[in-house]
Amino acid sequence: MRPPRLNPLFASATSLKGIGPKLDKVLAKLLRPAAPANSPARIVDLLFHLPSGLIDRRERPKLDALPEKGIVTVEVTVGKHRSPPPHLKRLPYRVDCFDDTGTLTLVFFHAFADHLQRLLPPGETRFVSGAVDWFQGSPQIAHPDHVVSADEFAKMPLIEPVYPMTAGLSPKILGRAMRAGLEQLPELPEWQDLAWLRKKDWPDFVSSLRKLHQPETHEDLALTRPEHMRLAYDELLANQLALSLVRKHMKRKAGRQLPGTGDIRARIVAALPYSLTASQQSSLAEILRDMAAPERMLRLLQGDVGSGKTVVAVLALAAAVESGTQGALMVPTEILARQHFATLTPLCARAGLRLALLTGREKGRTRDDLLAALAAGEIDILVGTHALFQDDVAFHDLGLVVIDEQHRFGVHQRLALQAKAQDADLLVMTATPIPRTLALTVYGDMDVSKLTEKPAGRQPVDTRVMPSERMDEVIDGLRRLLANNGRAYWICPLVEESELVDLAAAEDRAKALAETFPGRTGLVHGRMKAAEKDAAMARFKSGEIGVLVSTTVVEVGVDVPEATVMVIENAERFGLAQLHQLRGRVGRGTGKSTCLLLYQGKLGETAKARLTIMRETEDGFRIAEEDLRLRGAGEMLGTRQAGLPVFKLADIVEHADLLAAARDDAGLILARDPNLATPRGDALRSLLYLFERDDAVRLISAG
Ligand code: ADP
Ligand code: MG
Repeated sequence: MRPPRLNPLFASATSLKGIGPKLDKVLAKLLRPAAPANSPARIVDLLFHLPSGLIDRRERPKLDALPEKGIVTVEVTVGKHRSPPPHLKRLPYRVDCFDDTGTLTLVFFHAFADHLQRLLPPGETRFVSGAVDWFQGSPQIAHPDHVVSADEFAKMPLIEPVYPMTAGLSPKILGRAMRAGLEQLPELPEWQDLAWLRKKDWPDFVSSLRKLHQPETHEDLALTRPEHMRLAYDELLANQLALSLVRKHMKRKAGRQLPGTGDIRARIVAALPYSLTASQQSSLAEILRDMAAPERMLRLLQGDVGSGKTVVAVLALAAAVESGTQGALMVPTEILARQHFATLTPLCARAGLRLALLTGREKGRTRDDLLAALAAGEIDILVGTHALFQDDVAFHDLGLVVIDEQHRFGVHQRLALQAKAQDADLLVMTATPIPRTLALTVYGDMDVSKLTEKPAGRQPVDTRVMPSERMDEVIDGLRRLLANNGRAYWICPLVEESELVDLAAAEDRAKALAETFPGRTGLVHGRMKAAEKDAAMARFKSGEIGVLVSTTVVEVGVDVPEATVMVIENAERFGLAQLHQLRGRVGRGTGKSTCLLLYQGKLGETAKARLTIMRETEDGFRIAEEDLRLRGAGEMLGTRQAGLPVFKLADIVEHADLLAAARDDAGLILARDPNLATPRGDALRSLLYLFERDDAVRLISAG
C-alpha cells in the first residue's frame, strides 16, 4: 500500500486544474515514454520533468543586438500588418515591428486577422517573447510565445523555466500544469540522514524540487547544484535500497547446501585440454563456497568475451549434481544453446553427466520424453533457451541455475526466473563490461566474481580503422586468408528501425562476396530459421565456407577458434560495447587475428574518438567507461535493452560519486533497520514509493 500522503502525486496529470483530458496522450508520451500503452502521466512524472533552460525577461536586447538563435524577449512598437493575398492563404500573415535600433517581423501561419489586429494594434508598444530566427538577413519570430502590453508585462514573471517539449503541447500549458503540480506537493517526512544533509548542505526534498523548477540564472540549471544533487541522491538511494532489499530477501530464503564431493569435477578437469586460469580457479572457489553455504547463492560472474566463463559454469553445475541435485544452463539464443550443448556433450560424457537440450524447437514426443526424464531425475543438466522455464517444465530437484549472457535477459525475466527456480542457487554470467558505476545500479543485489585474465596463449587482436573505399584491399586480404584455409566474419550493421533494409544490405554483401569467393561464402541473419542458421554456422566451423556474412546475430557467445578475421562494415554505427563483443569472436585460437573497422563517409570527432579507443585497447571495462564518457548513459549499449535502470533525476556520469555513497548508505540503513520499521524507515518507504521501487517494499512485508 502506497503511503496515503503520496496519493496526490500519483493522481493523473490531467486531473490538474486547466489541464484537459485531451492532453492525456501527449503528456504520457513526453513524461512516461517507457510505460506501457495507456498509462497516464501522473503529477509525479510532471514534477520530475526538470527545466532544460530558462527565459530571462530581465534581459531585453535591442533589435540590432538579437542573438543568432534562442528565446528572447523584446520591447517593440507595432508597425504595419501584411496579410497574405486572398488566393494565397498558405502564405503567412506578417506584422512588422521596430524599435529605435532595428526591425523585427512577427510571422503567423493560418492566422485570424481580426485576432491579430486586436493583439497587435499598430502604433502601440508590445512585449514579445519567442524563438528568433533569421530570414534573408532579417530577424523574425514565428508564433511568439507571448505578446503582451506594458501593463500585462509588468504582471508576468521575469524569469520562466523552459522544459523539454513534445509536439502537441505548448510551453504555456506545460508551464501551467507544472505550477499546478507543484501546489500538490505534500509535506513529506525527511528520509535522509540529517547529519549527512547538513554535511552536504542539501535542502529538503520538497524545497529542492520547487527550486529546480524555478531557475533564476543559467548556473541554476547545473546538475551539480545542491538541490539537484539532493534529488539525484534520493533517486540513487531508492535504487540501492531496493536492490539491497531484493538481495536480503533472496538470501534470507534458506537455500540449500550443495557441497559436492569433487568426483565429477575432477573428471572434468582431467578431460580438459588446458588448465584453468588463476581467475577461473578463484571465481570457482567463490561459487563453490556460496553453494556449500546454507544461504541461497546470488552471484554474478563477470568476464570479458573469451575469458572462459563456460567451463566455470560447467564445474559449478557438476558440483550441484555431485550434491544429488540437477542443474540448468539458460542462454538467450538458440544458436548459443546448441553450441553449448555440442561443446559440453563430449566433456559431460567423459565425466558421466547426463546432459540434455531443450529449446523452442524440441516438440512432440521428443519433448514429452525429455520432460519425463527430467522429472524422474534421469537428466543431470539441462541446457536451453528460456524454453527451460515454460510452465510444464518440472525438474526432479533443481539445485543450480546458471544464466549465460544475462544482459540479454531483462530484469523482469530475471525476477520471474528467480521465482520459478524456488530455492535453487543462482549464477548469472555476463560479458557486458558495464562500467563500475553502472554495475552498481544493476547488480547491486549480487555478489560478484570476476574473470580478470584471459586464457594463456591468446594473442592481441590487431585492430584497424579504415574507410570503406579501401574495400579492395580487404578483399585481397581475404583471398590470402581463404587460400590458407582461414576463417573470417563479415558483419553488416543492423539498425532496428529498418531490419529489412539492413537485411538487404547483408544479402547484397553476401552475394558480392560469393561472386569473388564462389562456394566459400555463407550468410546468417536474425530472420533465418534456426535450422538454417545452425547449418550455416556448422559449415563455417568445419571450414567448408571461409567467409560468414552476418548481421549482428554472431554477437553473442559464438565460439569458432579458427576464425581470425573480423570485418565490420559501418563500424561507426555500432556502440563500442557491441564492437567489443563482435571483436571478441576472433583472437580465440592461437592464430594471429585482425579486426577491420570500416567506416563510411567522413567521421565526426566523437566517432573518430570512439573508433580510436577500439584500436587502442581490448580491455572491455576501459571501453565501457570511455563509451559512457563519450555518449552518456542513456545511449550506452541500448540502455533499456541491456536491462539498465533509467534514472529520471540522477545523471550517472555527473553523479557517479553519489552512487557509491548511496550503496554504502543503503547497506547501513538495512543493517540498523532491516524492516524499515523506525520513523526514518517509514520515511524511506515513502522514498521507495516515490521512485517506484515499491516492489522491494512488498518483499519486506512478505518477510
Ligand atoms: P566466454 O567467457 O566468452 O563465454 P568461453 O567460455 O566461450 O568464453 O571460452 C572461450 C574459449 O576459451 C573456449 O574455446 C574455451 O575452450 C577456451 N578456454 C576456456 N578456459 C581456458 C583456459 N583456462 N585455457 C585455455 N583455453 C580456455
Ligand atoms: Mg560465453
